[in-house]
Amino acid sequence: MKRAYNFGAGPSALPTSVLEIAGKELLSFKDSGISIMEASHRSKLYDDVHQNAIKLVRKLYNLPDDFDVLFLQGGASLQFAMVPMNLYMGGKAEYANSGAWSKKAIKEAEIQGINFEVVASSSESGFDEIPEVKFSDDCDFCHITSNNTIYGTQYKSYPKTKSPLVIDASSDIFSREVDWDRVDLMYAGAQKNAGPSGLTIVIIRKNLLDRVKESVPTMLRYKTQADANSLYNTPPTFGIYLLNLILEWIDEKGGIAKVDEENQRKAKLLYDAIDNSNGFYTGHAQKDSRSLMNVSFNIKDKDSELEAKLLAEADKAGMIGLKGHRSIGGLRASIYNAVPYEAVEALVNLMHDFAKRNS
Ligand SMILES: *Cc1c(COP(=O)(O)O)cnc(C)c1O
Repeated sequence: MKRAYNFGAGPSALPTSVLEIAGKELLSFKDSGISIMEASHRSKLYDDVHQNAIKLVRKLYNLPDDFDVLFLQGGASLQFAMVPMNLYMGGKAEYANSGAWSKKAIKEAEIQGINFEVVASSSESGFDEIPEVKFSDDCDFCHITSNNTIYGTQYKSYPKTKSPLVIDASSDIFSREVDWDRVDLMYAGAQKNAGPSGLTIVIIRKNLLDRVKESVPTMLRYKTQADANSLYNTPPTFGIYLLNLILEWIDEKGGIAKVDEENQRKAKLLYDAIDNSNGFYTGHAQKDSRSLMNVSFNIKDKDSELEAKLLAEADKAGMIGLKGHRSIGGLRASIYNAVPYEAVEALVNLMHDFAKRNS
């Protein structure tokens, strides 16, 4: 059986070895005679997986004790609304707008009717960079998007503020180490770098849990799942099982710092190919804002015919998911943790060859 090189933006590649384990264990998990999907979420069989996944998030991220790890549903998109619902206390909030996902987060703040301001934006330059961000120190919370999946830009470090900093890390969670002194809440839909869709990971500083108002529905309060260790109701058990396997895979590789090194090597290979193409390829992001996860690029003059031709050739060679987001066109190679170096090599080889034939 041949596995494709999957450069899709999300849902995206999972480590082959993880899928092999999941396949082997699918009908009978740990000799139980049932699939983990068929196990009660109150059973010991499942509980061991659940606890281990939380333990590994803590270990791999070197997470301080005053944080909780929550497994929720509703995707990162529900977090856009849950953040203001749970953290806003009648003061003000501040947002940085670095692209489409930031805008969606801001839209939910608007819907909640909270007092907020967008204090930084890279909208004028077509979101080709991370804006300069300076948050006030007296906000109920501030919000940034760590990695801009569509535009291919990424914060190199997080802004420093005395206000609680909330980070949408949907497309770069577990890809690099985090300075938890600067972060108070991090959330991510699992389907880009951490598992299948249907699972949302929230890492929250415990002192933020008690702010929530009585009028917020039980299931939309962080405190509900924090008090119940994410077992208030039935969690997405199969997603958490896969997350656990992925975390074990990262652990075996030597941890997040090791994965980050590999991510840097992959990104360098691809960006070098773009930069050394004599202008045949052009990257969307400005160099100092480039993402290690999503590489958005065009062919010279945004030649859509050539772009389609390259996509077709890639597809034929078993490289899929390279079409750019419909909002900016061009191509995008998502090179998340699970995309192997060989995949990027194969892509870069094709790009060289294609440029030679079509210049
Ligand atoms: C994909 C993505 C989202 C949306 O995630 P869902 O889980 O589909 O709601 C939000 N933010 C970022 C940065 C993303 O890449």
